[in-house]
Amino acid sequence: MAKDLAAFAEKNGVKYFMVSYTDLFGAQRAKLVPAQAINDMAVDGAGFAGFATWLDLTAAHPDMMAVPDAEAVVQLPWKPDVAWVPANCVIEGQPLAQAPRNVLRRMVDEAAAEGLRVKTGVEPEFFLLCPSGDRVADEYDTAVKPCYDQQAVMRRYDVIAEISDYMLALGWEPYQSDHEDATGQFEMNWKFDDALATADKVSFFKFMVKSVAEKHGLRATFMPKPFEGLTGSGMHAHISVWDKSGKKNAFADDSRELGLSEQGRNFLGGIMAHGTGMTAITNPTVNSYKRINAPRTSSGATWAPNSLTWTGNNRTHMVRVPGPGRFELRLPDGAANPYLLQAVIIAAGLDGIRRKLDPGPRSDINMYTDGHLAKDAPKLPLNLLDALRAFEADETLNRALGAEFAAAYLKLKRMEWDSYVSHFSKWEHDHTLDV
Ligand code: ADP
Ligand code: MG
Ligand code: MG
Ligand code: MG
Ligand code: MG
Repeated sequence: MAKDLAAFAEKNGVKYFMVSYTDLFGAQRAKLVPAQAINDMAVDGAGFAGFATWLDLTAAHPDMMAVPDAEAVVQLPWKPDVAWVPANCVIEGQPLAQAPRNVLRRMVDEAAAEGLRVKTGVEPEFFLLCPSGDRVADEYDTAVKPCYDQQAVMRRYDVIAEISDYMLALGWEPYQSDHEDATGQFEMNWKFDDALATADKVSFFKFMVKSVAEKHGLRATFMPKPFEGLTGSGMHAHISVWDKSGKKNAFADDSRELGLSEQGRNFLGGIMAHGTGMTAITNPTVNSYKRINAPRTSSGATWAPNSLTWTGNNRTHMVRVPGPGRFELRLPDGAANPYLLQAVIIAAGLDGIRRKLDPGPRSDINMYTDGHLAKDAPKLPLNLLDALRAFEADETLNRALGAEFAAAYLKLKRMEWDSYVSHFSKWEHDHTLDV
């Protein structure tokens, strides 16, 4: 039985619901609905002009309705008067095929039709900056190798512990938080879950981190590479596939290489086959391409991949198998749309399982120092335009995610690219003035 949101409000003292959906660029859009009015929206949804957000709709389209998924409601721990509820987009009674949460729900259903449940854990990295966003807020946080800096993480204890406490209260089972490899950068980890639940949690996490940071007079950013020369912010995804009951990890097989079952290897084969095509989704902004393929950072490593390679417990490759029964995709960054990230992983993996794809031999070299030895490994796209072209050329991914979604995504992202290249930069002036 679906949760009754009005009863939820009554029981928990909620005054307003934030009926929220995520558009193609990953922006969360919401209406604040008084608890007294929520039951009127439970079935038909809250109305939005879709064109006013990043969706491929016109101003003349009928209203887009955001229908709350009551099962996924979360009361804001920092403002308990309000509850956030992710919504599914509908136009004239039909699910909007291009809407990211709908795309993911379709992929989850496809996996379920084959008796599979994809479970993922996502590791968000973020920076805590001054409100202006142009520098790290903590002026003492200047070490060349700032990773795990004990003193610096304690200077941000009030922010990090507050967020961690909220995750504990929400039952997410957080288990660690640390200072990451760039000055001002942090990461917080909680337990993996079903792909849709993880996507909702990542969405809520970004909202929560930004909100708590603002409360403390700071600005949090998930921008992939906010500062030249510093390590960027990844959004690594750890992946495993379970049986219908969710009790048996179908990726675990101790008798095989790195403890990865044949099915796990095939899923990984799909990720490797579609690695180039999925980059437009895992790394969706102009800035994303400053994180991957980057020169060495001041800390000594980018911790981001540059080629399509996989390995065991070695963080210099695109895919790492840190232990039996799962693997880690290190490609995605903080700008990845939480829903599309999960959707493209499932799309690629299911293709790998269906076609019994093999990822090829693993590589155990240090890609940062010896990458030249991996001569045959394809390089990741060098910029957003190359990535969009690669996504467009990947018919399997287009078909799996849906032709309507693919066309909408490509159209809007191309507009973004065009806006970027038409921007006149100082670099051009500096490098062209004296031709
Ligand atoms: P690392 O920094 O070593 O890559 P983290 O501990 O930061 O790893 O993050 C690991 C993520 O992987 C967590 O979200 C964790 O819950 C998740 N995870 C662990 N086991 C599995 C599994 N079997 N399937 C999917 N995710 C998993
Ligand atoms: Mg109006
Ligand atoms: Mg981590
Ligand atoms: Mg990290
Ligand atoms: Mg990781």
